[in-house]
Amino acid sequence: AIAVLGSCNMDVVAFADRAPTLGETVAGRRFATIPGGKGANQAIAAARAGGAVRMIGAVGDDDFGRALRTVLGEAQVDAGAVRASAEPTGIAHIVVDARGGNSIVVIPGANGTVTSLTAADEAIVANSAVLLLQLELPMEAAIAGAAVARRAGTRVILTPAPVQDLPPELLANVDLLAPNEHEIAQITGIDEPREALRAMLEQVPEVVVTLGAEGCVYGARTQGGTLHVPAPKVEAVDTTAAGDTFVGVLAVALAEGRNMQEALRWASAAAALSVQRAGASTSMPKREAIDAFAAL
Ligand code: ADP
Repeated sequence: AIAVLGSCNMDVVAFADRAPTLGETVAGRRFATIPGGKGANQAIAAARAGGAVRMIGAVGDDDFGRALRTVLGEAQVDAGAVRASAEPTGIAHIVVDARGGNSIVVIPGANGTVTSLTAADEAIVANSAVLLLQLELPMEAAIAGAAVARRAGTRVILTPAPVQDLPPELLANVDLLAPNEHEIAQITGIDEPREALRAMLEQVPEVVVTLGAEGCVYGARTQGGTLHVPAPKVEAVDTTAAGDTFVGVLAVALAEGRNMQEALRWASAAAALSVQRAGASTSMPKREAIDAFAAL
């Protein structure tokens, strides 16, 4: 099973030819409210890929919160540990441009109230093969979750986004760090992804850096060199949740005992499928579609 300790947001998305610069107004083409948040996105990606997923987090007592619970339920994510908060549901305010690039403002709301784990949350983490963490909940929650996972032998995968200082007490309990190329450059101050990856291996045992259309590169402290897995060539429409799809599907493959190379290939197939459709959770492929595409 897979536990996700993370954010639930409603993505409020404007589609425009290009994002406005500061002080500028541009005409958009379309608007949508799309359930998201890195936590919910990873949970839904993992569940659609066939994982047994339990989500820990919080939403508000409002329409967005109810919509998020419905979407998690439809994807077969167990949201029993998603608390009802007095704060409003978190929001991600997104602009998607004509090339599928995005810029995002996140307002945490209910997510900000998750500062510790309940006994029930701890049991979920301890009874899972993999714990997925991102940084859209308060840092205390991620630190607590990773510590419980380490004691239980649950494998911890951290998406270090949005980028912030990574406390040593968190990194000490992370097994696999999964940044994109921009995130690892910010964290290490090193622009070249492989070089940054090697530097990061001094702090965590395994790192996978996603490189957008270039695929991903993986390295482990116990192995020399890095493994590059190219991305399938596809027409990208919206890359909003590509990284979350990649990580969620990677977790399923690892929880099933697949080796890292197979798991990375499968996750790359899923992420490539997801960028061909607009939206976050709604663009994530089901297991059969991933298998069919990965076999090509
Ligand atoms: P993020 O979504 O965090 O910005 P990336 O842009 O690196 O992360 O994308 C994550 C993964 O999604 C990549 O490693 C790749 O597997 C897949 N992906 C992203 N963009 C494309 C693309 N244009 N074509 C194929 N796969 C893509």
